[in-house]
Amino acid sequence: MHNIRVVLVNTSHTGNIGSAARAMKTMGLSELYLVDPVKAPDGQASALAAGAGDILANCKIVPNLEQAVADCGLVVGTSARSRTLSWPMLDARECGLKLVAEAEQYPVALVFGRENNGLSNEELQQCHFHVCIPANPDYSSLNLAAAVQTLCYEVRMAYLAAQNQNLADEPAQPEYPLTQELEGFYSHLEQTLSKTNFIVARHPGMVMTKLRRLFNRARPEAQELNILRGILASVDKRIDSQDKSR
Ligand code: SAH
Repeated sequence: MHNIRVVLVNTSHTGNIGSAARAMKTMGLSELYLVDPVKAPDGQASALAAGAGDILANCKIVPNLEQAVADCGLVVGTSARSRTLSWPMLDARECGLKLVAEAEQYPVALVFGRENNGLSNEELQQCHFHVCIPANPDYSSLNLAAAVQTLCYEVRMAYLAAQNQNLADEPAQPEYPLTQELEGFYSHLEQTLSKTNFIVARHPGMVMTKLRRLFNRARPEAQELNILRGILASVDKRIDSQDKSR
């Protein structure tokens, strides 16, 4: 469970941070990351955290989402509504199962958005999957800490089920790259595609977003990502040698 982290992005109300910490602790989770909170945890946060003050005291504050998930192998973003660009989705139950299964291998993250307008598209694109709590379609936006509670409960249920199962019978999980390795691949891909003029700097369009969606959906394994990096390196090499011979 210590490999499962809850990330709150740009939270406005410190009371929600405290309530989220309490929600986590009741479900056996402890790793809280705050991305650029509007206000650092204060007395109001401690009051609502109640017995979960230790989680607040140990929370990590970072300036952006990328830093909060750099060492994670799986990142799941939460959203109260589906956005224009569809993304691989998990339901709340699958989300709990996947986080628990993959946390055996590396840190995994569950990311929550701002009280007033959720996660930005750019932040959502940093996630492998999105999860939406299937709430009342006429009023589907839960309070932030209530959403944390609901999804942490699913994590707990998956954790308890896994404890009762003989894990030795499970097929081995493939090895996935960490977020920082994937991000390195995306920048390399963008550079190479700019060199070949497939992407034109002044009119980049949606190409990188769509490619990110493609690769996030495919979820290349660590070895496959190495092959992709090798392909890019071979293209770079050919372009550089052509440039030199001109
Ligand atoms: N008006 C915002 C809602 C923000 S609610 C929007 O439309 O995006 C604050 C946060 O609580 C969300 O960013 C999300 O992390 C979580 N949340 C609220 N309702 C949710 C739901 N039905 N499913 C998943 N997460 C939800």
